[in-house]
Amino acid sequence: MTVRLVFLGPPGSGKGTQAALLKEAFGFCQVSTGDILRQAVAGGTPLGLQAKACMDAGELVPDPVVIGIVQEKLAGPECRKGFVLDGFPRTTGQAEALDAILHDFSAPIDRAVAFRVDDEAVVGRLSGRRTCAKCQAMYHVSFAPPRVAGVCDRCGGELVQRPDDREEVIRQRLRVYEENTRPLLDYYRGRGQLVEIPAGGPVEAVHAALKAAVGL
Ligand code: ADP
Ligand code: ADP
Repeated sequence: MTVRLVFLGPPGSGKGTQAALLKEAFGFCQVSTGDILRQAVAGGTPLGLQAKACMDAGELVPDPVVIGIVQEKLAGPECRKGFVLDGFPRTTGQAEALDAILHDFSAPIDRAVAFRVDDEAVVGRLSGRRTCAKCQAMYHVSFAPPRVAGVCDRCGGELVQRPDDREEVIRQRLRVYEENTRPLLDYYRGRGQLVEIPAGGPVEAVHAALKAAVGL
């Protein structure tokens, strides 16, 4: 089965967690622009140097930069079996660019999934989020703790807190979401591609709602 999905939702709504679960269960390619950008920052590449200041401030990285990343990823063989775009598009310009890219591949998206969760839950989730510096696996100090504090279950890597997961930057990212990304719900609703799922419950409940909403 091939499914091409776009995940929309505020930071902390669980997009990355759910994309990883779909990848594990169905082998879909997970394209996370945030992960790709953070790897570039860690590696000190020209892309990383360009993106770092925007990311630290909770602002969006310029459209041409992220569009280039996604175009390259989607052209790869691993995305032929379906993909989940987790964190892209975030602006109308990105959504239009995505349409153009997929038109070239004759592979339109099947569904845009909007994750619904309130702001206070998001702040609680993001302030406890920890990520493996080595393999990017995701944890939460209370909701999804590792077996040994600070150590990745999968690869033994060090768990770190992202510099943009501090409360004042979280609030800024929520503002950026409302202004730039929320309008995309109407963009996809207008084309009959939007499905909304409640994302405030436990991980397993969200996973079940997601699968039902996209017919998996
Ligand atoms: P979250 O889902 O927790 O908000 P991400 O890991 O998706 O975080 O993104 C982290 C940061 O990377 C964003 O705040 C932004 O600076 C940058 N970024 C990621 N994806 C995009 C995108 N599609 N467009 C612009 N900037 C992006
Ligand atoms: P996003 O990619 O939308 O920014 P993440 O998947 O990174 O969101 O989740 C943010 C934090 O919340 C992580 O620490 C993750 O472990 C935790 N989390 C994800 N989904 C849930 C959930 N349904 N209930 C509680 N915590 C969750």
